Amino acid sequence: AIEIIRMNKWFGSFHVLRDIDLAVHRGERIVIAGPSGSGKSTLIRCINRLEEHQNGRIVVDGIELTSDIKNIDKVRSEVGMVFQHFNLFPHLTVLENCTLAPIWVRRTPRRQAEDVAMHFLEKVRIPEQAGKYPGQLSGGQQQRVAIARSLCMQPRIMLFDEPTSALDPEMIKEVLDTMIELAEDGMTMLCVTHEMGFAQAVANRVIFMDQGQIVEQNNPHDFFNNPRSERTRLFLSQIL
Ligand code: ATP
Ligand code: MG
Repeated sequence: AIEIIRMNKWFGSFHVLRDIDLAVHRGERIVIAGPSGSGKSTLIRCINRLEEHQNGRIVVDGIELTSDIKNIDKVRSEVGMVFQHFNLFPHLTVLENCTLAPIWVRRTPRRQAEDVAMHFLEKVRIPEQAGKYPGQLSGGQQQRVAIARSLCMQPRIMLFDEPTSALDPEMIKEVLDTMIELAEDGMTMLCVTHEMGFAQAVANRVIFMDQGQIVEQNNPHDFFNNPRSERTRLFLSQIL
């Protein structure tokens, strides 16, 4: 579903991503871990073209990411993204947040868009909040709305960038449970997270990044129990 081949990116003279090679197959659940500043967010932002890479290739579901704007629109409709800060529109209700893009980008009839939105709000277990505004919801509820809103565009791939790190502890579980269900439904997922319990339970592969490189990747069992590199070992000793 995603193929990244010797991809590099610079911010000015700062070489932020170095020779990234990564293939993500349909249905995979990948967790990306690594210290602050290692390039995790930049990597997943390149996958839906919130950032541009400078050389190498990124191919998403057969679409090569180039400066062709048509390709960018196509990729954005295939790839959903959920951020640390939920980025909901505060002046729109939960239902309106979920139907905005389907109506205006996809030209879905309003009634149909609302039916789809209610389906996904039920899926994330907050259909009763449909008429409220984001400011009237808890952080965990807002993040579940953000997930439902992404799903309303029927993406084939979901990218998560620390979706629980802005949440109070008691709300983390409800968001992780939603992500676990999504994984069980077979969604292809790439998650930047510090939730190593989630990684152990859900990921089929854990990727460790440091200083713009993929240092190591492995199945969760071997990644946590038998890290190959010293940098990974050091990182794990600091977070576990
Ligand atoms: P964190 O765990 O703190 O979220 P991260 O692994 O997601 O870190 P990135 O946000 O990808 O790291 O940033 C990687 C490096 O690139 C950092 O050194 C950061 O300061 C730098 N960087 C990120 N965005 C920009 C930008 N727009 N312009 C210049 N430098 C940037
Ligand atoms: Mg980040």
